[in-house]
Amino acid sequence: MGKVVVQQELCKGCGLCVEACPKNLLVIGKDANSKGYYAVVQKDEEEKCNGCSLCAIMCPDVALEVYR
Ligand code: SF4
Ligand code: SF4
Repeated sequence: MGKVVVQQELCKGCGLCVEACPKNLLVIGKDANSKGYYAVVQKDEEEKCNGCSLCAIMCPDVALEVYR
């Protein structure tokens, strides 16, 4: 089981991690950060996260931290 922490201010909302997650657990959020980007959030199904870190590896802005 894993948990993803999104550094909202680093995220540019590019969606690469959304595509990368094999469990489809990430989604672009509804709230803009201070730079005007809509940062990613983890869905309310985090018990499905296996901590594979594919999302974090894919992020060009190192905005994701994965804990297992
Ligand atoms: S760690 Fe893996 S399963 Fe969990 S949100 Fe990231 S890509 Fe998805
Ligand atoms: S890949 Fe990184 S910058 Fe892009 S939406 Fe995901 S967390 Fe944000």
